[in-house]
Amino acid sequence: MVVGAGPSGLVLSLLLAQKGVKVTILDAASALDAQPRATHYAAPTVDELRRAGVLDEILSLGFVPNGVAWRKLDGTLLAAMTPESVPEGNRVVCLPLDKMSKIVYARLEKEKGVEVKWGHKVMDIGQDEERAWVKVETTGGPGTLYADYIVGCDGGNSQIRRSLFGNMAFPGRTWDEQIVATNTYYDMSKFNWLDSNFIVDPEHWYMVAKIQTDGLLRITYGDIPGLSREEYIKRQPMKFKQILPGHPEPSEYRLTNISPYKVHQRCAEKFRVGRFLLAADAAHLCNPFGGLGLTGGLVDVGNLYDCLLGIHLGKASPEILDKYDQVRRQKYHEVIDVVSSQNLRLLLEDPDTSEKVDGFVDLCRKANEDKELSRKMQLFSNDIKYDFTKHYDESSSTTTEVHSEPKDGMKVSHRSVVL
Ligand SMILES: Cc1cc2nc3c(=O)[nH]c(=O)nc-3n(C[C@H](O)[C@H](O)[C@H](O)COP(=O)(O)OP(=O)(O)OC[C@H]3O[C@@H](n4cnc5c(N)ncnc54)[C@H](O)[C@@H]3O)c2cc1C
Repeated sequence: MVVGAGPSGLVLSLLLAQKGVKVTILDAASALDAQPRATHYAAPTVDELRRAGVLDEILSLGFVPNGVAWRKLDGTLLAAMTPESVPEGNRVVCLPLDKMSKIVYARLEKEKGVEVKWGHKVMDIGQDEERAWVKVETTGGPGTLYADYIVGCDGGNSQIRRSLFGNMAFPGRTWDEQIVATNTYYDMSKFNWLDSNFIVDPEHWYMVAKIQTDGLLRITYGDIPGLSREEYIKRQPMKFKQILPGHPEPSEYRLTNISPYKVHQRCAEKFRVGRFLLAADAAHLCNPFGGLGLTGGLVDVGNLYDCLLGIHLGKASPEILDKYDQVRRQKYHEVIDVVSSQNLRLLLEDPDTSEKVDGFVDLCRKANEDKELSRKMQLFSNDIKYDFTKHYDESSSTTTEVHSEPKDGMKVSHRSVVL
């Protein structure tokens, strides 16, 4: 069972269903989420979307950005990187998350072994030697649902994580900085900027990136902390006039979505407790600068797919899930947390005085002359990948049988896994 029909839950379910593993997806909402969130998918995410068989469709609606630049508030170019040094199949792909999720969901609907239950809010959990369960609230009243394994893909406020470790147990920190994410149409063509741009400034730091082929931009900026949602929305025209090139009035752009966010760097203390697993935002959070949030999440679910499929096929014992827990937490602490924190801190520097900015600009300059360095820098996120099939062990096939007669009467064949 997968709790959460966000991108991570959908991709995990699709990967498993395509291999004949039965999956039930529960979601508290009544439909897919449409908030302005992930847009850019780095190489490891692209690999998982390819494995799930949805990359071509995503590319047909999305695009490969022509590069990324770092600039001062007045637009002066500090550094830039373009994708030529990266092999074509590994380049960053861009498509707003709501559109990506729709593609994955449409594929899922064609899979026989998948059942999606909208309007099922998980309230509590339990497990014994033989199975795990969730207690849910639905419009038709409360209920209990059972499975061999239950994966919490239920986002940053994960009930699965809260039930496992307690409401307040999500170790890490919350940034003082407040971000506001918008989707906006604004004609930037006259400024001749690359598709993605980070503006380095202690007060007016922001990101502006093309996110759709029709020119829609994601403009995400920092604002003063401690205001209400309404106050942030009210300040937005003033912020755009201050920060954007051309200092536009509201009549010169069209805002289609706005959402203030607090940002966090947090990681659960375990990603496996018995038959419960955590993945993606339910397991870890990071700030969105550099696109490591869902990238880390989809690598989690790709890894979990390999582990669960290994168990299903009798090629791995359930202990492989302990390895999943250990490896994914290590990758969060050693790569995702470190790099995403550096990305945000760099934006907050004063570009005229900061040694950090000077060092970064020097490195980009070197990369522009050294294709291999440029390729490595742009593919750094491959460091979060891990191949779990190397832990497959044919000899484990005699030890991995899952119960054949669960207490609730669900039919489960020998060595198969029902999620
Ligand atoms: C402004 C912004 C920009 C971003 N940009 C990028 C980017 O460019 N690249 C990138 O890689 N990442 C980016 N991210 C991060 C990315 O959007 C998230 O990591 C990703 O959406 C998390 O997906 P998820 O499936 O883990 O969780 P979610 O998308 O949060 O899905 C969780 C699902 O679980 C359901 N649910 C919650 N509680 C329950 C419950 N009790 N019972 C049942 N169902 C429940 C919810 O209804 C929801 O459908 C960005 C984030 C933000 C805020």
